[in-house]
Amino acid sequence: MISSPSSIGKLVAESGIGKREAEMILADVLGLSRASIIAHADRKLEASEHQQAAAMIARRQAGEPMAYILGVREFYGREFIVTPDVLIPRPETEVLVEQALGRLAAHRAPIIPCVLDLGTGSGAIAVSIAADKLVARVVATDISSSALAVARQNAARHGVKIRLVESDWFTALLAEKFDLILSNPPYVAHGDPHLTEGDLRFEPLQALTDRAVGQQGLACIRRIIGDAPLHLNDGGWLLFEHGYDQADACRQMLAERGFTDLVAIPDLAGITRVSGGKFAAKHVK
Ligand code: GLN
Repeated sequence: MISSPSSIGKLVAESGIGKREAEMILADVLGLSRASIIAHADRKLEASEHQQAAAMIARRQAGEPMAYILGVREFYGREFIVTPDVLIPRPETEVLVEQALGRLAAHRAPIIPCVLDLGTGSGAIAVSIAADKLVARVVATDISSSALAVARQNAARHGVKIRLVESDWFTALLAEKFDLILSNPPYVAHGDPHLTEGDLRFEPLQALTDRAVGQQGLACIRRIIGDAPLHLNDGGWLLFEHGYDQADACRQMLAERGFTDLVAIPDLAGITRVSGGKFAAKHVK
């Protein structure tokens, strides 16, 4: 436990966590910007402020992700509410949003494109699309009702309309069809040691891994690729995120299912993390 430092600067210095993180926590507690925290290092802390900040610092010391401690994470230029019921949005996933918006740009009025985000979690993908592309109809699913509650808050926060559906992948969508299907599904392999390390050990297991023995984390992706053609309008696109070593397997599954124009897009680190393809109605079976 941290002793009772009298000032912002002293608490930051004695926090035992990263300086930037301690500053973010103080900014949150005091309702100030990080710049003000840095500029007013001499400002005295009230006992209650100190207590609140110290409790948050202790959570960080225990390894809890900053996003859960602060309750928010920035994604694609917007701030999203995050709770331990949802995966923390990551920069890699912005590549998926960018690609999706690029494809949607090809749709011209009066045609309103229909977009589906499978396993939406916080709603980061669906809300980013809806906010950027106000003329799209956006549907977002999740198997977790508590995740959908977070997505609902984020849609409201950013003033967008999204239809949220509790569903095990496509199950509740019946015969509904879309022009673009997106997903950042669970793809970490069952038993991968990363699941018990770092941020991941605090995130919902259900959002990270298919929990399927011997499937290399591909079980959900396989299911999405298998069923997507039944929910795509003619010439519609499926785009999804996957693990750093899954691009070849995804490409093969997409090709076997009859997708064409296959794409494999690298993230900022140059690793292929988004794949997908187009589906022509003649291939449906
Ligand atoms: N990108 C996450 C990770 O490996 C996993 C997210 C996911 O399974 N969709 O840290």
